[in-house]
Amino acid sequence: MPSANSFSSVKPSLSSSRSALSPTPSSSLSATSPLSRGARYELTLSAVERNPSVRRNALKHYGLKCYACDLVPKTANQIDIHHLDPVAEGERQTTLDDLVPLCANCHRLAHSERPPLSVDAIRALALSNSLRSETQEPPQRLPYSF
Ligand SMILES: [Zn+2]
Repeated sequence: MPSANSFSSVKPSLSSSRSALSPTPSSSLSATSPLSRGARYELTLSAVERNPSVRRNALKHYGLKCYACDLVPKTANQIDIHHLDPVAEGERQTTLDDLVPLCANCHRLAHSERPPLSVDAIRALALSNSLRSETQEPPQRLPYSF
């Protein structure tokens, strides 16, 4: 069985597609030398099987709230169900003790490190950010200049 993150693709190299579309290859966008984008390529990937009843049961059990930052979203689709034992590590049996509802930001933060950050670590980061934002002036806008 392929790994959860395996994929193969036949992606054209940017340099070869660029040469057909742009007379002067460049890595920076300017008004006079456009960069190529929107080309199509084939991609084959393998995905992790999800069981929708796991999410339903977790939301029913824990409620609609982020357990790291206490966000109470307007809709259920704004809450992710985070696996404390990462799904990417392979097939296994899951119980409610392995799951915790997180908002999208906290879920992304959890997976910003390997192994994922704990809910307590995310909560501490969220608290320190909220305390910092209460004591700091809002950032100044940068002047529009190039
Ligand atoms: Zn959150």
